[in-house]
Amino acid sequence: MRASPITPTVDFDVDGEQHGFLKLPHSHDGSAWGAVMIPVTVIRRGDGPTVLLTGGNHGDEYEGPIALSKLAATLRASDVNGRVIAVPFMNYPAFRAGSRTSPIDSGNLNRSFPGRPDGTVTDRIADYFQRYLLPLADYVLDLHAGGRTLDFVPFAAIHVLPDAAQQARCEAAMRAFGAPYSMRMLELDSVGLFDTAVEEAGKVFVSTELGGGGTATVASVAIALRGVYGVLAHAGVLAANANVVADTDASRTTTLLDMPDGTCYTTSEHDGLLELCKDLGDIVEQGDVIARVYDMTRTGAPPVQYRARRGGLLAARHFPGLVKIGDTVAVVADVVEHGIPVPILQTAAG
Ligand code: ZN
Repeated sequence: MRASPITPTVDFDVDGEQHGFLKLPHSHDGSAWGAVMIPVTVIRRGDGPTVLLTGGNHGDEYEGPIALSKLAATLRASDVNGRVIAVPFMNYPAFRAGSRTSPIDSGNLNRSFPGRPDGTVTDRIADYFQRYLLPLADYVLDLHAGGRTLDFVPFAAIHVLPDAAQQARCEAAMRAFGAPYSMRMLELDSVGLFDTAVEEAGKVFVSTELGGGGTATVASVAIALRGVYGVLAHAGVLAANANVVADTDASRTTTLLDMPDGTCYTTSEHDGLLELCKDLGDIVEQGDVIARVYDMTRTGAPPVQYRARRGGLLAARHFPGLVKIGDTVAVVADVVEHGIPVPILQTAAG
């Protein structure tokens, strides 16, 4: 296969702190010899594991971009053993547009793996991660949230994998992230996901859904940042005297959730005005009315009722007030276990 058209302006094998770009040539009306410049930070000290941290895989999800921008501006080479590669705005054209997909080619980066070096801009970004960055990494943390159309209880997530030992390594890293919830996630369609690419490469992979609505909150950013440091510590990349915010709250726990099958999902079969009847985090029983959809064209008609197809915890919901046929209205997940301890994050600075 041909080489990637992307060239990094950083050297991944040099010690120290480097802030540069993944430079992807892109000739268009506004810039004949232009390039998409995807910011990247590499922080390395000596040999050790490599953690690849990514945000902005979807361009309207903000906890990852914020937490990784903070990290890039503050983490020093003296804080690490090994290497941290941070790409806060992975699908940079989408991030700049504030949209889930790229305005250049409508590409959804998280449906574009393994990508192509001679494909669209989005394909080329996927290909660079697949063939150049993934092989460098031992651990990959890809930070997502709900974007403009979904909202989630804050969770870190892993998938059920064919290799039990690999799944156990992913579960341990998920626990180290320390979000209020930890999810064994079912994908309706795993083709083209960055997740699948990382998992098939045999790496330890953790994803997240940390909120939504196309913005971030004080709480969701704090969860993201604590989680990033938690995974770095778990990977053995944080030096013993690292100058990072410690979290010595030994009472911190996470609740393990599971999405065992498609009955977790409620999909709208109508266009209309949405009334969610449960809030995120609420416990619902099978058969409970979780949403009503009202006719937007007239008054006097009873709403369509959507009932939970299983009992559990409301883990995700449609965010905008109007819903269209085919939209995910809600996700109900099984509560597997409460009160799982989260490893504390102890550094000299703390
Ligand atoms: Zn996403």
